[in-house]
Amino acid sequence: MNNNRIFFISWLVIPVVLVWLSTNYLIGLNRQTKWQTENNPKESQAQIQSATDVIDENIQPIKWNGQGLVTIGFDDAWNSQFGVAYPILEARHLKATLAVPTGLVGDPDYMSWSQIRMLSHKGWEITSHTRNHSCNPTDMTDAYVSEELGGAKVDLKNHGIIANNFVSPCGVNTPNIINTAKEDYLSLRTSGDGYNDLPVTDPYGLKVQAVEWNTTPADVASWLATARNKKQWVIIVFHQIQNDQSKYATSIDKFTTMMDEVANSGLQVVLPTQALELQVAAPLTPTVGTGTPMPTETLTPTITPETTPSQNFNGL
Ligand SMILES: [Zn+2]
Repeated sequence: MNNNRIFFISWLVIPVVLVWLSTNYLIGLNRQTKWQTENNPKESQAQIQSATDVIDENIQPIKWNGQGLVTIGFDDAWNSQFGVAYPILEARHLKATLAVPTGLVGDPDYMSWSQIRMLSHKGWEITSHTRNHSCNPTDMTDAYVSEELGGAKVDLKNHGIIANNFVSPCGVNTPNIINTAKEDYLSLRTSGDGYNDLPVTDPYGLKVQAVEWNTTPADVASWLATARNKKQWVIIVFHQIQNDQSKYATSIDKFTTMMDEVANSGLQVVLPTQALELQVAAPLTPTVGTGTPMPTETLTPTITPETTPSQNFNGL
């Protein structure tokens, strides 16, 4: 009787043990400890890669209905743009673009690299603004321009930021700056007043509406109305957001009202990359005889060559 019972229990227990052992073996094959994962060179490389590609991942193409667009831009990466402007934008779910002179990062009054990286992770577009922000046209030898524009792109990349667009300090726009920007970047933003056609026809001559101390929220509202009525792209540029009455600063109250104007404008708020990549597909034309449509063509942006340097030293 005892032997029979042991025999019976054995036939119940042995299959259960075998199933448990084989399951554990199979799962164990695919399991790595956290330590193994973190120290696996391939895994680590993948993590680094995804960190450096964060800008490309964040800036998604927009769905565009042919209407006007607005971009909020901040020049020079001032501290107040991070400490004051950024929370005001976040409260309104607005993203902006930041033009960074890489040689000034970390100096007093300017953002740190970690602050700039945080903004890029939050969906802001970081653009290049040279290394040392020289506005002196006599500095602009070919070698200096090459170093300032190309070097800034390298500096940004070394901090995990891919900057495809360039903002010229003070709007200095010598022929060698334009030519170098065409080699290193997809666009050049000047300090010239105006609005940009959509799709963009002059990516190396982007115009702006710059906010200064005397600019009113009503001025900003009128710029937004113009972009809406003419179906154009307006880039609104700010410098410091503080109450010191300096020429290029904007008071915190006025800035807050201006951001309400933007949020309530009905215009789509976009990053430079999103506006620049908009293209118009040519209308489909049936080919006689085959009945198949012609391949869709995209409009090639027309670049108007500048024959004379256009300099505007009134803006930063
Ligand atoms: Zn600047």
